Amino acid sequence: MKDKSLESIGEFGLIDIIKKKFNSKNNDSLIIGIGDDAAVISKSKDDYFLISSDMLVEGIHFDLTYHPLKHLGYKSVTTNISDIYSMNGFANQITINLGLSNRFSLNAIEEFYKGVKIACEEYNIDLVGGDTTSSKTGLIISVSAIGNVLKNKLTLRKTAKKNDIICVSGDLGRSYIGLQILEREKSVFLTNPEMQPELSNYSDSIEKQLKPKARKDLIEKLSEFNIIPNSMIDISDGLASDLIHLSVQSNLGVKIYEEKLPILKSTILTANELNLNPTTCALNGGEDYELLFSVNEKDYNMLKDNDIDITSIGYFTSNKKCNLVSKEGATIGLKAQGWKHF
Ligand code: ADP
Ligand code: MG
Repeated sequence: MKDKSLESIGEFGLIDIIKKKFNSKNNDSLIIGIGDDAAVISKSKDDYFLISSDMLVEGIHFDLTYHPLKHLGYKSVTTNISDIYSMNGFANQITINLGLSNRFSLNAIEEFYKGVKIACEEYNIDLVGGDTTSSKTGLIISVSAIGNVLKNKLTLRKTAKKNDIICVSGDLGRSYIGLQILEREKSVFLTNPEMQPELSNYSDSIEKQLKPKARKDLIEKLSEFNIIPNSMIDISDGLASDLIHLSVQSNLGVKIYEEKLPILKSTILTANELNLNPTTCALNGGEDYELLFSVNEKDYNMLKDNDIDITSIGYFTSNKKCNLVSKEGATIGLKAQGWKHF
């Protein structure tokens, strides 16, 4: 067969090819393998294990010019366990693999693990192992998380229902804006190292980029109100891509409304200053690590009545089209972005 470039296949295409090669089970304990935010494995009569894995590579996912190692340690953990919460479960353990060069001192690595420890304490998880090796291509961080979920609470990407209300936690686009500010400051610094950065106006977005939270609090709230969403995913690649994952896997379409997207005033102001469209930042920016989920109308009303930090942005449709209705009333097709790794 003719060979193809990875660029032409793309990240999601490649994952599909791998998934198809491993579609039969060698072990009965496997419930769900490749394709959701975490794998699902039998555990006991009432619950499943959840397993997720993520990699952060220097130059692709972070830049040590402005990502302090302590924050990077924290972010490596929270961005990974976000995939466990998006299955409606809780993370319990993590392992961390590091590819390191001689460029790093012991102090630097200790800083990284300070951030890891802060996240472990905040989210009640234990670091239980990993691997350490040398790397010639910069710092490589790979984190795996193990969690659990009650069988009747497991929430997948592929089970959204027609007319479900699509909800998102927190706000969108802020992390991407933070990254753009840090990039701007980096280029100012490279041309004029004497200039002092004035970042206080942007602290909201920079904090979200450097130290994103995982939305364990929302999973606790859902449990408190006995609400099990019909579908859920965490937003890592951007609202558009992650919504398309829910839609394709559930065999449904979506209709969302630009005017409903939760974008903070400060995100809009900074986007305008940077000549960026705030809606595009929310749709395609990525790294929000908010939860995107769907519920029926009754459950949605219950969440709203109890002031839970969520916003409804649209609903699932049977026509399989993924559309955004703009503020002017135009219907625009959503496009999957994903990260351009290759
Ligand atoms: P997320 O953004 O939630 O981390 P990804 O898009 O990275 O999700 O991955 C989607 C699915 O594909 C997950 O089930 C993940 O475990 C799986 N996956 C990603 N890369 C690989 C790989 N190289 N081999 C096997 N499975 C993979
Ligand atoms: Mg995910």
